[in-house]
Amino acid sequence: MTAADLTITQAAAGLASGEMTSTQLTEAVLDRAAMTEAVLHAYLTMDRDGAMAAAAESDRRHARKDPLGPLDGIPIALKDNMCTHGVETTASSKILAGYRPPYDATVVERLRSQGAVITGKTNLDEFAMGSSTENSAYGATSNPWDPDRVPGGSSGGSAAVVAAGSALGALGSDTGGSIRQPAALCGVVGMKPTYGLVSRFGLIAFASSLDQIGPFTRTVTDSALLLDAIAGFDPRDATSFRGEYPNFSDAIGRGVQGLRIGVVKEFSGEGFEPAVEAACSSMLDRLSATGADVVEVSVPTVDAALSAYYLIAPAECSANLARFDGIRYGLRVSGATTEEMMARSRAEGFGPEVTRRILLGTYALSAGYYDAFYGKALEVRALLQADFAAAYEKVDVLVSPTSPFTAFKMGDKSQDPLAMYLCDICTIPSNLAGHPGISIPIGLDESGLPIGFQVMAPALGEPVMYRVAAEVERLATFDARPELAGVTA
Ligand code: GLN
Repeated sequence: MTAADLTITQAAAGLASGEMTSTQLTEAVLDRAAMTEAVLHAYLTMDRDGAMAAAAESDRRHARKDPLGPLDGIPIALKDNMCTHGVETTASSKILAGYRPPYDATVVERLRSQGAVITGKTNLDEFAMGSSTENSAYGATSNPWDPDRVPGGSSGGSAAVVAAGSALGALGSDTGGSIRQPAALCGVVGMKPTYGLVSRFGLIAFASSLDQIGPFTRTVTDSALLLDAIAGFDPRDATSFRGEYPNFSDAIGRGVQGLRIGVVKEFSGEGFEPAVEAACSSMLDRLSATGADVVEVSVPTVDAALSAYYLIAPAECSANLARFDGIRYGLRVSGATTEEMMARSRAEGFGPEVTRRILLGTYALSAGYYDAFYGKALEVRALLQADFAAAYEKVDVLVSPTSPFTAFKMGDKSQDPLAMYLCDICTIPSNLAGHPGISIPIGLDESGLPIGFQVMAPALGEPVMYRVAAEVERLATFDARPELAGVTA
């Protein structure tokens, strides 16, 4: 156990009391990363100098007893699809190799202005398309619990660094499950906020109507703390929420007495591992024993959500990725004409999954198919929203497993896109509806791999979602840590 194993809340207390400096904390985290990275490959870029300089500045503020808030001096990692001023940002794509953004994403600006120490940029599936981080153009990331297995994705690097202690927290993005699913597979807490709560300015867009940035942490309390830090209206994001932002940390610790918890009936049975179902049902028993009213709820349209998502997300991606033309960013492969140069740059710059999505999306949006595919998918999205609204008349939150299965072996699903797409069956509906969701680790399966439990809430329902999540965490008493070849605690 070193300072790298502290939660954000513990480390913040140590920094505030003067028991520890940010320089010491940041060194412990970078030392941990130096050991774990040989196995994990969770970081694409580490900014050691930048981190140590930020830590020294934080120490000066703490010495003056004038810190910028609870995150001042805390080492945080960023998924490499968030723009960082002057620091390479690739979205794990060859097409962006060497791209150094001239500005910080709003979330990065917010973290820096609150004194957070940015450790580096984490690996992901190329442009966040995938569920295993195997689609990175720079090599896969390993799961800290078993390096032969995937960490989930697409924010697999962010999940792995938090699980391994090579950052105390991290940011990821979630378009269909990319925060919650890797959190589940790596045994950490991962949260997707209500659409619009966290600015997308400076996030390299995948599917703009679904993308949201959110926190990875070891505890629910830390999750709320990090969300408090990054949420807020941003005039540079036209979809940014303009209303009142609650304090997310306030909701924690109130228990679940009298709350109505709806178990999504459709998320069980075929395709769900028995160990995952057993862990979730034992959690439901404990929740009802502590005073929650646990009932089964049907949300029938969730069965069609995956199909709708795999039309809407590729459609939006085909439009968003049109900007990578060999002229404005990154890779350029020469050709006899401008068109040939663009075609070659795109053919060489994009990997196979990104190419598949662009083709699917272009097809779904093409004249003659638009109504049959894209239009139908939007109808399903509207039906799903209505279904959710009906369910939330009866219950305060909905719950399910986060992922139908625990971490799978590298290579197991990478040749079968449909098998890979099923990873997100339980998480995609919240993205289509724009609702928040969180994954909390609740136990290990028979192979010692983490199991995640998902709590979903209606739009802006983060306070009740965190309230239930904190109780799930308390009841789970999950304190196992990965023994990464003897290098972690
Ligand atoms: N796995 C899903 C996909 O491949 C979700 C990805 C994400 O949330 N970014 O699209």
